[in-house]
Amino acid sequence: MISKQYKAMSEERSLNFLEEIIEEDIRNAKHGGRVLTRFPPEPNGYLHIGHAKSICLNFTLAQKYGGQTNLRFDDTNPVTEETEYVESIKKDIEWLGFKWAQELYTSDYFDQLYDFALALIKKGLAYVDDSTAEEIAAGKGTPTEPGKASVYRERTVAENLQLFEEMKAGKYPDGAKVLRAKIDLNSPNMHLRDPLMYRIKHAHHHRTGDKWCIYPMYDFAHGQSDAIEKITHSICTLEFIPHRPLYDWFIEQLEIFPTKQYEFARLNINYAVMSKRKLLQLVNERYVNGWDDPRMFTISGLRRRGYTPASIRNFCDRIGVAKRENLIEMSLLEFCIREDLNKTAWRRMAVLDPVKLVITNYPDGQEELLHGENNPEVEGGEGARNIPFSKELWIEREDFMEEAPKKFFRLAPGLMVRLKHAYIIQCNDFVKDASGKVTEIHCTYIPASKSGSDTSGINVKGTIHWVSVPHAKTAEIRLYDRLFRVEDPSSEEGDFKDYINPDSLQVIQNAYIEPDLEAAEAGKGYQFIRKGYFTLDPDTTNQHLVFNRTVTLKDNWAKKAD
Ligand code: ATP
Ligand code: MG
Repeated sequence: MISKQYKAMSEERSLNFLEEIIEEDIRNAKHGGRVLTRFPPEPNGYLHIGHAKSICLNFTLAQKYGGQTNLRFDDTNPVTEETEYVESIKKDIEWLGFKWAQELYTSDYFDQLYDFALALIKKGLAYVDDSTAEEIAAGKGTPTEPGKASVYRERTVAENLQLFEEMKAGKYPDGAKVLRAKIDLNSPNMHLRDPLMYRIKHAHHHRTGDKWCIYPMYDFAHGQSDAIEKITHSICTLEFIPHRPLYDWFIEQLEIFPTKQYEFARLNINYAVMSKRKLLQLVNERYVNGWDDPRMFTISGLRRRGYTPASIRNFCDRIGVAKRENLIEMSLLEFCIREDLNKTAWRRMAVLDPVKLVITNYPDGQEELLHGENNPEVEGGEGARNIPFSKELWIEREDFMEEAPKKFFRLAPGLMVRLKHAYIIQCNDFVKDASGKVTEIHCTYIPASKSGSDTSGINVKGTIHWVSVPHAKTAEIRLYDRLFRVEDPSSEEGDFKDYINPDSLQVIQNAYIEPDLEAAEAGKGYQFIRKGYFTLDPDTTNQHLVFNRTVTLKDNWAKKAD
């Protein structure tokens, strides 16, 4: 059902509202028909799938209209920003498959921004305020009550210039003074009630070092940076709508490049949290094993989990560009990765919960190599591997039942099944230990039923996977479930961390895998037949293979929810 619905979403669609705006601008030869967008992350965390949406949007819009996209690190907050984040952000964007025109930093514009501030002071449009943060907040009033002017609002231009220069020179401690724009204390838009432009912060900056002890606020830096770069379409998320009049005001007063801001709805996914602040808490408080934990919806987590760049780009394209907040189903993201891996993943066999099967009529010590195509979805199969077969095999415990119900097409005494790539077998009996646990299943095989040259004339309904006991390699396998128990943890009462799913990670220490998987490549997807799509985890060493399950073969959450 779901797949039909999503397929329909990917079919030819009309222009989204941003494409309509850009096409209109091109028709009117605005900016000479040029398109330049930017992706402006703050380097205070790793990127998540929401950022991927913004990246895909900015880069593909520019590509579509022959333009380019800048990568600009919005690094105006020295305290939370780190070079580690800068590196991870660049890696993630490249991995997604996009190339930025220029790598830029808001901090490169600190001199220019300072000059812009001086220009506004000289125009009588900015003043130094000595009030405390509380006094300023109180003086702003409320949306229904007008604000009250600070006693410092009427300082002269000369006084403001001198004080601002002293702020820059380090004469005052943190919080002693701020620079504010002089706009309108009665504006219904709170952002226009003399917003802060600069604050004092004696802190080391990851790029400018100790050169500055005053830092521009987001609202004074962002639009001006867009203008400096001559960005034609500055795309951001809906929460910036009320900031837009301020964005326009600074540009107008400074008489700089008239870039325009457009807003779209943030991507939110159910059973996940999407804000860097929350993701950082999960990392710091060790609810997960780092930013790239495969349960996280960070780009690095998804990569480690086995998501491909194409699947993420596809997902971002399918969800479209909305103007209203909504919650996208995680199952759509999973649909996109299944669709991709079904076409590209190599098929292998792995037994996650093993029980031994003995083929009593297969000669002791004999072994043969069976043929298994790597990828039956592709003409030619992308080659094949040899699968060793012998008298003793591991099969999944769940593929055997002592007493089977009617429609059980796997193994039970008397029942027949095909071993994938091998023979048809019939179950004769089984052995139990003292606790009643089945320890061995005894079968006979039909030599004429070999896959590829079957002359047995026998038809069986079920096929099961297996791994030869003497040839099997062991691996650790990590199975993941969603990280949260509720659809929207951020909107629940109390702390979002109270809603963490305690069973989101299941580790299988000793799974049996076919020997060819010893050569598994990092970053490649494998379908473990009947068990899902898997990929090698970077915790793998020469002695110890570790696989992550990317996704199950079918959407089994729909079932679980019943
Ligand atoms: P967060 O709240 O997760 O920390 P942010 O908006 O503070 O996100 P930035 O680094 O400032 O993160 O964002 C860089 C760009 O990515 C911005 O243009 C922002 O609007 C966009 N972005 C961030 N989160 C999302 C999201 N969930 N969906 C779409 N775009 C997003
Ligand atoms: Mg931010």
